[in-house]
Amino acid sequence: TVRVRFAPSPTGFVHIGSLRTALYNYLFAKQKGGKYILRVEDTDQTRYVEGAIENMIEALKWAGIEHDEGVMLENGKLVQKGEYGPYIQSERLEIYQKYINQLIENGHAYYCFCSKERLDEVREAQKERGETARYDGHCRNISIEEAKKRIANGEEHVVRLKLPENHDIAFHDVIRGNVVVNTNDLDDQVLIKTDGFPTYHFAVVVDDHLMGITHVIRGEEWVPSTPKHVYTYEAFGWEAPKFVHLPNILNKDRKKLSKRQGDVAAEDFKNKGYLPEGLINYLALVGWSPEDNQEIFSMEELIEKFSLERVSKSGGVFDTDKLNWINSHYIKEAPIDEITDLAIPHLVKAGYIKEDEKKEKYQWLKDMVTVLKDRISYVGEITEKVDIFFKTEIKPADEQAEEILKLDHLPHLLEVFAKKVEEAEQIDEEFGKKAFKSIQKETGYKGKNLFMPIRVALTGEVHGPDLPLMMKVLGKQNILSRIEYVKK
Ligand code: GLU
Repeated sequence: TVRVRFAPSPTGFVHIGSLRTALYNYLFAKQKGGKYILRVEDTDQTRYVEGAIENMIEALKWAGIEHDEGVMLENGKLVQKGEYGPYIQSERLEIYQKYINQLIENGHAYYCFCSKERLDEVREAQKERGETARYDGHCRNISIEEAKKRIANGEEHVVRLKLPENHDIAFHDVIRGNVVVNTNDLDDQVLIKTDGFPTYHFAVVVDDHLMGITHVIRGEEWVPSTPKHVYTYEAFGWEAPKFVHLPNILNKDRKKLSKRQGDVAAEDFKNKGYLPEGLINYLALVGWSPEDNQEIFSMEELIEKFSLERVSKSGGVFDTDKLNWINSHYIKEAPIDEITDLAIPHLVKAGYIKEDEKKEKYQWLKDMVTVLKDRISYVGEITEKVDIFFKTEIKPADEQAEEILKLDHLPHLLEVFAKKVEEAEQIDEEFGKKAFKSIQKETGYKGKNLFMPIRVALTGEVHGPDLPLMMKVLGKQNILSRIEYVKK
């Protein structure tokens, strides 16, 4: 059975490129009836960030990408589930110790005592000669006995992979086809660092093997490392999993999407008010395309239709406009309450309402969101559209609006309308409809001559959301004062 894993380093946030990697792993596992595992790769202890694992699990959960096995969050606490644990690499040090000893005994790895200074010198000299910087094999032939003596004497050391000279390492990548690299172009990779921790390259092989991983689906930045991994599998006599390297997500300049260019973390999108369904739907399409031209996909449909074969070799460009288009679809579909709840913090933050007013004003907020829902691509964008309900001085937004406010019948129309508003017990949607009907009867103004001037008087704009609902949200006082203002 298929077993795949998402193996983030705990940086504290999930880059959307990683989120897509997680998604593809998840979709593949679910489609094949397999298992999707979350493993934490925290062997670089200098990069430890407090609360990082928790944050990442929360982000994945928000996105709807939940794993079957591995590190989980239960009532705010980290727990591990599954029979192949521990799933946090820093808790697996004994395992790596055992396996590195095996490689050393078999002659596939060796102790290296070179100091940083020496390595720097070698590298400098190589550079000056125009060669690629590579470890020069200085410690390759130190016997195990001698090495053990030096270690007993407290000498600092690492363990390196012993690659044979001039040997082709080949592997098949599901997306890229065959890849062949000659060991003369590879370094004797450090497998165990001076602090006794494994490097990523060693831990990833041991863990993927012991955890029964069948497919390694990860970002293409790992392609150059894969031959070393493949060789390590060979050295152990293990069968390597299948490799699937996903193309990068690029920005509009076709460079790798990076933090400096703005939002790259799943959380950034969440905070802006993108819906997880929208973000996931969009991300699925950056790099993968379905056989037909379908663009809106639920997670279930993605599980059904996804295929590794249709993942492209070249990088996918992150297109915010398309994301916005897809997300606005999900906003339109979502229940009003959900969007209202998401909108409130944005409105509070922008100062449109106070935190302690949100309960009493809930119905009003809901109506407002109903009016604006079809005009936003992400919930946070609502703060750019609500102004229409809060400004007191309505000015014509453009020439067309200006012309409408100059119409001869405008004063009369507004007078009749104002009277209806004053007389109304409450301004609901019904009011609007009824008022327009009776004004038409009384005055003979109809169609555009009736709606347009009222709309422009109330909003300053020629186009806009449904007028009766708009009036309900504005409320009596607001409508009357806007009419007063226009009359002047
Ligand atoms: N820990 C690696 C990362 O952060 C995982 C790479 C892999 O999937 O092998 O990208």
